[in-house]
Amino acid sequence: MITWPRMGSLDVVLSSVFEEMGVDYVLPPPSSQRTLELGARYAPEFACVPLKTTLGNYIEAIEKGADTMLMIAGKGPCRFGFYAETQRRILEEAGFRAEMVALEFHLDRLGELIRNINRLKQGGSWVRLLRAIRFALHKAFLVDRLEQQALHQRCFDAEKGATSRALERAYELVRRCSDHRGLREVEGQCFELLRSVRRRQLREPPVRIAIVGEFFLVLDPWFNLQVEEQLGDLGAWVERSVYLTDWLRPSGRNPILGHSDRESEEAARPYLSHFVGGEGIHSVGHTVLFKRDGFDGVLHLLPFTCMPETIAKGILPLVSRDQGIPVLSLVIDEQTGKAGVATRLEAFCDLARYRRRQSDRPGPRSAVFSSAAASGF
Ligand code: SF4
Repeated sequence: MITWPRMGSLDVVLSSVFEEMGVDYVLPPPSSQRTLELGARYAPEFACVPLKTTLGNYIEAIEKGADTMLMIAGKGPCRFGFYAETQRRILEEAGFRAEMVALEFHLDRLGELIRNINRLKQGGSWVRLLRAIRFALHKAFLVDRLEQQALHQRCFDAEKGATSRALERAYELVRRCSDHRGLREVEGQCFELLRSVRRRQLREPPVRIAIVGEFFLVLDPWFNLQVEEQLGDLGAWVERSVYLTDWLRPSGRNPILGHSDRESEEAARPYLSHFVGGEGIHSVGHTVLFKRDGFDGVLHLLPFTCMPETIAKGILPLVSRDQGIPVLSLVIDEQTGKAGVATRLEAFCDLARYRRRQSDRPGPRSAVFSSAAASGF
């Protein structure tokens, strides 16, 4: 049985591919403190936290019967490219019996990539696989647009958590969909679920906070201590620099947010002119672009010991001063507690709100429901 690590709504997408292919899979239990403790027990101490968390996911999936682990591989320059091999060795030495299948998308490794995909599709045809992937990407695109809508409307919730509950129900509807026609029908129902959340009247436009940083940390609510929900509850209208679609289908167009990679690299150029791995350059570039888009503050998320984001963290104070936008860099590791983060977010929102009032910048007045992004796929 195949498994893969937890990362936000990735399970909605990958489970769709394997169900379409008729291949058995097992999901690790939702990430928890136990997941992180298991990962930290076996991983080297200096490893970045996503490596530890995903290692814990694999161990918990193996306990549920998984025998094949799926991971993406590459050549770096950040450690992510080496996760598959590192984790394979760690698990083997610790006596866990499961095979790692690493997908590496490089022309010079094409033969190996084809062999590995053949192992995963277990006799299914290539046409069926491509159809399954196409359908799953449509699901991913819908999930991303729903998440974006939730980010924009949480600050208007009359009852805390109402948007998040509606989003959970929407995920379930998307998860159960098995064809394109059904997905089109479900799309309307999902947006209706979000639209039906009762709103409150705000005394002033909400403060606009953007989230940038390492993709795993930005995309996984358990790992980032639900910062999106926390910010929404604090009355912030939130946007983020990366969505699942950007990661699954790296076109560089960023179809949900609308900042292309090229734009972000251009914006970063006065501060950082070359690729440093991961999202380092984009954390800098998106901060500049979010300022141009009228945001009031940027929250920068980085896992402890993350190389690319540590570089971005060193540069962002200069960007903040130059561009006149508050930036909070939040380093997250296995010791980080939600209460400490909540206090810092509260102070940060107050500061951004104060600065916005000083500048008299207008903010968003409503949770606008738009289907404009639908044309981007
Ligand atoms: S981007 Fe940072 S946290 Fe993510 S894999 Fe690379 S080094 Fe680790």
